[in-house]
Amino acid sequence: MRVNTLKRVAVAFALALPGAAIATVVAAPAAHADGCYTWNRNLYQGRSGDDVRQLQIRVAGWSAYGGIVRIDGIYGPETAAAVRRFQSAYGLRVDGVAGPQTFNKLYQLQDNDCTPAHFSYGELDDGCGRGGWSGGPLSATQTKANAVRTMWKLEALRRSLGDKPLYVTSGFRDTSCNRQVGGAANSQHLYGYAADVVSRTSSLCRVAQSARSHGFSGIYGPGYPGHDNHVHLDSRRENNSDGLTNRTSWSAPDCGVGN
Ligand code: ZN
Repeated sequence: MRVNTLKRVAVAFALALPGAAIATVVAAPAAHADGCYTWNRNLYQGRSGDDVRQLQIRVAGWSAYGGIVRIDGIYGPETAAAVRRFQSAYGLRVDGVAGPQTFNKLYQLQDNDCTPAHFSYGELDDGCGRGGWSGGPLSATQTKANAVRTMWKLEALRRSLGDKPLYVTSGFRDTSCNRQVGGAANSQHLYGYAADVVSRTSSLCRVAQSARSHGFSGIYGPGYPGHDNHVHLDSRRENNSDGLTNRTSWSAPDCGVGN
């Protein structure tokens, strides 16, 4: 979302030229300034840098089925495919190039605090209601950054489920909160990489199944012990800070064969 206070102002300079009439010069429009992040060049396969990384964070929810989009700052085929899916989902021209139309859509979708339009830090912070991002195994800064990545995936999932609200019932949990709610000792909730969600418009099975195409690698839903009233979503494959090599893990036995 644009910074509301940064209005594009046409500044008129009155130049007094020696021996001439007063001329008025209108400055060129200011470059786009977004409250969170502004891209300054087009991005496509072969490009790399922090601007690619920032893009990857925001399109990571548009992975292939069962896939993830690596946040590595390198614009490869995986990133291009995610950009194409993003463009298609929002009715943009589908070319796999992140240029003005893609960036403008991202500016619309991102709040000034870098969270996507339909999710907030408040929803994802300490699941026991204390608030904040400390008390887990990672620094508060890293935990919060992971939560942003989680939210962008949720935004993509929400879009694919018809742009209807998805409610987060538990996000980041500090160590004592996780113990209090009986979470697994190495729960992805400790890292900011997990969210438990419910929907009023989509069945939990539909949420769980759709999540497979939105970059989540840990998905637990109906029939998995303790998950009949919400769907657990996490990014365990991308978490290399818990000392484990985490593979994709899906379970929702009540959702039919193969789930
Ligand atoms: Zn969970």
